Formats: sequence, structure tokens, C-alpha cells
Amino acid sequence: MDEIVNLTEAQAVLRDLFGGSAGRLVVMTGAGISTESGVPDFRSPGGLWSRMQPVTFQDFVSDPDQRREDWRRRFEMKEIFDRAAPNAAHRVLAGLSRTGGLELLITQNVDGLHQRAGVAEECLVELHGNSTYATCLDCGQRAELEQARHVWADHQDPVCAACGGLLKAAVVSFGQAMPEAALRRAAEAAAQADVFVVIGSSLLVQPAAQLPVIAARAHARLILINREATPLDHLAEVSVRTSIAETFSHLDPGKVT
Ligand SMILES: [Zn+2]
Repeated sequence: MDEIVNLTEAQAVLRDLFGGSAGRLVVMTGAGISTESGVPDFRSPGGLWSRMQPVTFQDFVSDPDQRREDWRRRFEMKEIFDRAAPNAAHRVLAGLSRTGGLELLITQNVDGLHQRAGVAEECLVELHGNSTYATCLDCGQRAELEQARHVWADHQDPVCAACGGLLKAAVVSFGQAMPEAALRRAAEAAAQADVFVVIGSSLLVQPAAQLPVIAARAHARLILINREATPLDHLAEVSVRTSIAETFSHLDPGKVT
């Protein structure tokens, strides 16, 4: 494995990868891409979720107090997400998705920054769901957090306008089943990739951490762009350790110079 810590060298690697001739390109993003946009890593030591007991799916469904607490956290997170802005890496990936240069973008993030950067929705798989809106637990209908917030502030349960079922932020909560179809699609794309690039994931959370392994076993080139070492560094062709946004900035058509 080559380890790159120099910005110019890192940018050359990216130019090569994202220039359009590398074959079938699959990218997976994690918290590290969003921390550079001002979103804290909720799972990291000292992060929001390391200090608070998570509200499990079972608690949410069965305990009104836990449900209120979950909503409170979702509204708080939404404010943080709203204050953040997509960075050069989000924008470059969105651009690639619209020009056919990206087979699939798999994300572990729930902040909606890929969508705000304009990613082609059909190219995006969100392994942990999305915390910026809600869905009905019974019929799946989408609802906006702002609506839910008004109801919640009145000490009521936010419920579905269509069927009256409980609404919940569209994330995969602890104790909730992973989205099967999304996971299957991600695994298939990993198995067929020529190049699999991981951006800002420490590859510690399963089942996401399994995807680069699938790609490497199928002989894809594995490129890791992450500040810290990961348990899969030994499988990677290159490990890039520079700032994500800065490294992508020279590929960003929307950059301000
Ligand atoms: Zn419903």
C-alpha cells in the first residue's frame, strides 16, 4: 500500500481516478466527508452519541418519553445539518453522478449533504437512511421535520397525514433492520467495481466496512481517502491522508479561487 500525505500527490491521484478513464467507479462516503462541512461525527469519542444512550427502535415505538427525546435530538441535528454546506468533495461527486462518471455513491451519512450538492438520486444509496426528513412507520409516506416539530411542540405524537401511523426520522435506528434492498445494491456494485474509493470512513461500522472487502476480493482497485488508518489499509492500493475538501478542491468546477 502507498500512503500519501502530500497534497499535490493526493490531487494527482484524484485527477487520475476521477478523470473518466478508470472504469466502473463506486464511491463510499462516511462521517469524514461531512466533518469538513461542519457536521460533527456523532459516533466519535466525545460525539453526541457517545455521551447519550441511543434511542433504540424498540424504545421509540413503545415508550412515549423516549420517542419525544428522539425527536428532540433529530431537530437538534437538523439545525446542525442546515448550518453545514456541501464541500468540494460533495460537489465533485454530484457532478460525476450527473455525467455518468459514477456507478454508485454509497453513503453512511444521514445529513443529506450529497443531495444538497445535487447528486443524481438514482446514483445514491443511503445505508443508514436520512435524518433530514421523516417517514411513516406504517405506510412509508414522507413527511417534513418542520411539520413534525410543530406537532411535537404541542406535546403530540407526529403522525402520518395519510394513515395516522407513527412518523419517525428516516434514519436506521439502533435495533432497526438495515434496508435490505439498499445493502444488496451496494454489495452488487462493489462486486462489479473496477475502482472502489472510500472517502472519510474509518471502516469500523458494519455492514458498510464489508463493502470494500467485497470490491477488493473481486479485484477492484481499492483507494482509501481518510485522515486515520483503517483496518482495511492492507487491502488498499493507495491510502490518502490529506484533507478531503482541499484534495477535491482542484477538481471542483464550482470552486471560488
Ligand atoms: Zn402512513
